[in-house]
Amino acid sequence: MSEAKIIDGRKFAAEVRRGVAAEVAALKSAHALTPTLAIVLVGDDEASHIYVRAKGRQAEEAGMATLEHLLPRETPERDLLTLIQRLNADDTINGILIQLPLPAPIATPKVLAAVDPAKDVDGFHPINVGRLWSGAPGMVPCTPYGCMAMLKATLNGLAGLRALVIGRSNIVGKPMAALLLRENATVTIAHSKTRDLAERCREADVLVAAVGHARLVKGVWIKPGACVLDVGINRVSAPDKGKGKTRIVGDVDFEVARKVAGHITPVPGGVGPMTIACLMRNTVIAARRQRGLPDPAI
Ligand code: NDP
Repeated sequence: MSEAKIIDGRKFAAEVRRGVAAEVAALKSAHALTPTLAIVLVGDDEASHIYVRAKGRQAEEAGMATLEHLLPRETPERDLLTLIQRLNADDTINGILIQLPLPAPIATPKVLAAVDPAKDVDGFHPINVGRLWSGAPGMVPCTPYGCMAMLKATLNGLAGLRALVIGRSNIVGKPMAALLLRENATVTIAHSKTRDLAERCREADVLVAAVGHARLVKGVWIKPGACVLDVGINRVSAPDKGKGKTRIVGDVDFEVARKVAGHITPVPGGVGPMTIACLMRNTVIAARRQRGLPDPAI
């Protein structure tokens, strides 16, 4: 069997970013509107700071404005809620992103529910979650949206395909399952209590792994010809690169899986780049909707 075709997330993301930049330019000239994203980060989690910098940089490269609120770890929940209320009421802010994870004892669901659903560019507000499951237009979470965009571009329709989503988080697994269902796939959601994960994988025409467990999904579990999207980001030691060195790998054993799958995303360079590009897209969508404009074709 021939090797899987690599789904190049960087290429897809570059295309989305080009579309976003063109939309932003058009909004500026035709409507004097500069889409503006407020990014709120609480605490000193290193990975979160890296993500926030990348998001800010990409927003600015697309011609948007950003406003970063970097708050100390000990910020009381009520102060965070007050800031969100202020951002909700500010007409110059189109999108609000609360970088997760929030440090304890802040109640994440309460904070996410405080964001105006119209500015909820991550799609985590319960109203947007409900809209996604009921098929109404809302804000769709960025990682699943990016996965679905790549799936649609790769496969000739998803109707009737067996799809397995491994992971049931509110951020990735559940919204991914909702999007697959919307495309008429037959969807199974696996999680830490699932028995016979290998068997479920062998049945899947489309497999989305969003666990956070390095190489959990063995190559021999993959159905020949399946389309595999690997969302996982796991840092593992890489002695071949030198003492103490590490590398990022996904949830799928890529080297074996690529010999079996029909299509597969690499890690890095697969789902990750699309996630940030789709955040930019959501910010433009939010800004347009707030002006009563239709969604762009990005
Ligand atoms: P969570 O930790 O919130 O969820 C992990 C899910 O995996 C849970 O539903 C858990 O089940 C399930 N799980 C854990 N162990 C197993 C197992 N042995 N077998 C089957 N299922 C299992 O993680 P996230 O959804 O936030 O993220 C998942 C991964 O994706 C992480 O590596 C994260 O870094 C990455 N990620 C990547 C993004 C990107 O842009 N590429 C964006 C967001 C996340 P249970 O519910 O039973 O506990």
